[in-house]
Amino acid sequence: MAKVIAFSNQKGGVGKTTTCVNLAAYVAAKGYRVLVVDMDPQGNASSAMGFFERKEKSSVYEVLTDDLDAAAAVKETETDGLFAITSSSDLAGAELELAQVMIGRERVLDEKLAGVREKFDFVFIDCPPSLGLLTVNALAASDGVVVPIQCEYFALEGLSQMMNTVKLVKKFLRPAIEVEGVVITLYDGRSKLSKGVVAEIEKVFGSKVYNTKIPRNVRLAEAPSYGKPVAQYDPKCAGAQAYEKLSEEFLQRINK
Ligand code: ATP
Ligand code: MG
Repeated sequence: MAKVIAFSNQKGGVGKTTTCVNLAAYVAAKGYRVLVVDMDPQGNASSAMGFFERKEKSSVYEVLTDDLDAAAAVKETETDGLFAITSSSDLAGAELELAQVMIGRERVLDEKLAGVREKFDFVFIDCPPSLGLLTVNALAASDGVVVPIQCEYFALEGLSQMMNTVKLVKKFLRPAIEVEGVVITLYDGRSKLSKGVVAEIEKVFGSKVYNTKIPRNVRLAEAPSYGKPVAQYDPKCAGAQAYEKLSEEFLQRINK
């Protein structure tokens, strides 16, 4: 049975998608079957895995709002062991459509994923930068949450709201959900500011913070435009090495 992990932080541009896709690719490279579900209408995770088309009719939108089975929406990527359920621009409307559902609207994704859980070792869900119904659906389907935090001033701003949402999901929707880990992204080991911010984050999250920090690395920003995880685009760059190391730490902690 797959472990389902949501990559979430309501703040935009902190490295959720970069972390979700690249960690998924390295976990897949270690022999696991990993499904990435793109729950963001921006579709960045989809394009980062090579799916640039946003108009096809077998995306997560149809899974959430039509009768499409999750299994029928799964696409192979160029990376062995890495699969995708892509986003589409329609997904922006799903939030409103789900809001009309009277009963069980927070659990739609969870129920749909039941059909694919046994086919994968991990399901990674890339969340949008908000705490709306799409994110709540993602959390309600998840066993763990990985929170990427950008190493900058005000890094922790807004996080209490997000942690409160996780708490509510745990109380009402998914008792087993836990914060799986916190990934520090865009880290600059030479700057005093970065070290100070890390200390602040560790004060709040303690041992949940992964030892591996992701440096700022332009190759990580370039890879998505080629539709490739960094593991394929430039496996030797510092960003690739960091995500590979993170995948080892992630697997060790999750005991798979
Ligand atoms: P959103 O909230 O919009 O979904 P996000 O949290 O998913 O954003 P990303 O899309 O992963 O964040 O990253 C934001 C931008 O920063 C992207 O252009 C990405 O390529 C770039 N980026 C992410 N991590 C790094 C890094 N370690 N080094 C350099 N650029 C990075
Ligand atoms: Mg994103």
